[in-house]
Amino acid sequence: MHEISIADNLLRQLTKIAKGKEVKSVCVEIGCFRNIDLESLEFAISNLKDNYPLLTKCVFEYKLIKALAICYDNNHSYEPEFARGFKCNQCSSGVKEIIQGEEFNLVNIFLNYKI
Ligand SMILES: [Zn+2]
Repeated sequence: MHEISIADNLLRQLTKIAKGKEVKSVCVEIGCFRNIDLESLEFAISNLKDNYPLLTKCVFEYKLIKALAICYDNNHSYEPEFARGFKCNQCSSGVKEIIQGEEFNLVNIFLNYKI
């Protein structure tokens, strides 16, 4: 379950960014092709965040980003799906390039400035 190390890394980075302020909420974008199981990540974060004093009250929000690819033969933009063998839905050629869906981005972080 590599989500544990991803979660721990994220929490460590957030602590650095917060520079001593309490973190109220965080939004993370996760691409569908990033090989991250969201349920496992949520579980890991909720279990690990108590180890990080600035993050114990932090609310985590996750946005899933769907995958988009360009097909090999005709440069169609399409949503690659496992059920179709990741082939283009218009011409059935394969993936030339994944243009979206591999993200792991910190989108928002809200800090508590009240003392
Ligand atoms: Zn195509």
